Amino acid sequence: MSDVRVIDHPLVQHKLTLMRRKDASTSTFRRLLNELAALMTYEVTRDMPLHEVDIQTPLETMKGRVIDGKKLVFVSILRAGTGILDGMLDVVPGARVGHIGLYRDPKTLLAVEYYFKMPQDMHERDAIVVDPMLATGNSAIAAVERIKALGPRSIKFVCLLTCPEGVAAFGAAHPDVPIFTAAVDRQLNDHGYILPGLGDAGDRIFGTK
Ligand code: URA
Repeated sequence: MSDVRVIDHPLVQHKLTLMRRKDASTSTFRRLLNELAALMTYEVTRDMPLHEVDIQTPLETMKGRVIDGKKLVFVSILRAGTGILDGMLDVVPGARVGHIGLYRDPKTLLAVEYYFKMPQDMHERDAIVVDPMLATGNSAIAAVERIKALGPRSIKFVCLLTCPEGVAAFGAAHPDVPIFTAAVDRQLNDHGYILPGLGDAGDRIFGTK
């Protein structure tokens, strides 16, 4: 039921391993996440439509192909999604950005929404929803539900890491939304953390623990 695409490019896997190490500093973690996000964007945007434009090289005219950055919207699930966003915008600077604020209730692990701001013309856009960790799947499922209600042309979900439980829950709720990830880890623990994982992505990005 789930459509999971593991991006196993050697550069992606190498950088992910460096990030997982508990002794990676905040600045190292952030830099690697930025680089990884840019690399993953290549794969995620592989099917973006191109159109031809006439250009002039120093020698002659030709038809070149360009993508239409205006048709893309990156949706960051706050707060950890922000860590992926910068790397994605480095390679698609024309993309619009939406934010959805969700936190996990520590007792129920359910997603609670506190912020929602999207570009107005969502029905004309391809949405790429980003959050580093697809763990229980509750936040991702809730975020994609909200985005679907705005009727975008397509939705993809991008994370760094997920686990079988997250893939199953997300796939059951949104079988039409592909998951792009760098790895599917072994399992979730009782606190909703991915094992072996990389810890709390938000804390590691922002140095809050
Ligand atoms: N969120 C995180 O930041 N890490 C996990 O392992 C699971 C959810």
